[in-house]
Amino acid sequence: MSKLFVVSAPSGTGKTTLNNRLMKEFPTVEIAVSHTTRAIRTGEVDGQSYHFVSKETFQSMAKSGQMLEWAEVFGNLYGTSKLELERIFAKGHNVLLEIDVQGCRSILRERPDAITVFILPPAIETLWKRLEQRGTDKLSDRWRRLLTAKQEIEACHIYNHFIVNDTVEKAYAELKSIIVDGNPPALNHEDGIRYCKSLIDEFRSSPLLQDLKKKLEAN
Ligand code: 5GP
Repeated sequence: MSKLFVVSAPSGTGKTTLNNRLMKEFPTVEIAVSHTTRAIRTGEVDGQSYHFVSKETFQSMAKSGQMLEWAEVFGNLYGTSKLELERIFAKGHNVLLEIDVQGCRSILRERPDAITVFILPPAIETLWKRLEQRGTDKLSDRWRRLLTAKQEIEACHIYNHFIVNDTVEKAYAELKSIIVDGNPPALNHEDGIRYCKSLIDEFRSSPLLQDLKKKLEAN
């Protein structure tokens, strides 16, 4: 029987790289293509990265019950259509939803059987550096993404499994082990929650993050 997986990760944690690699190696695992109202970025392909639609189209799909879940993230609408899931299930394939924490909560209400995975950065300072390297957002936007990451990590208890993305090879092996082999990952649930708490503590203990906070609040 087809399985439903939810993989979430704070922005900048590298989940897209891991998920795309998995889908390439195992064609029976398909990433559901979400709908979004956000602008297309360089390198993205309509219908592959997302279905890019207008706000009107999105709202009418949501209103007529075509979305399994949807959420507003960073000012744009994102959602998983029921049709997309049916399309993948009809082939007997497993579905991987690459969605945020709000989306995961909604999915669990509809599909409590979903297997949920949270990918974490090795440290918040590392996440900050990765957001800086991406170079796509201004400082205040990057900070907003970091604060959203904090809120998401605070909601970590809803996830079954945790993966720390310190090296891509290790994180990929763990993701493969959960999704393809059905094995529990290296980090058990309690240790995963403890790890998330240590990341939240880093917001208070890191001089770099405290300095940034002061700088941004002063503006
Ligand atoms: P990005 O704009 O960087 O591609 O994605 C921003 C956020 O939207 C990410 O956290 C991503 O997981 C989330 N997202 C993408 N598709 C969906 C979706 O269909 N539903 C929900 N709830 N979140 C989504």
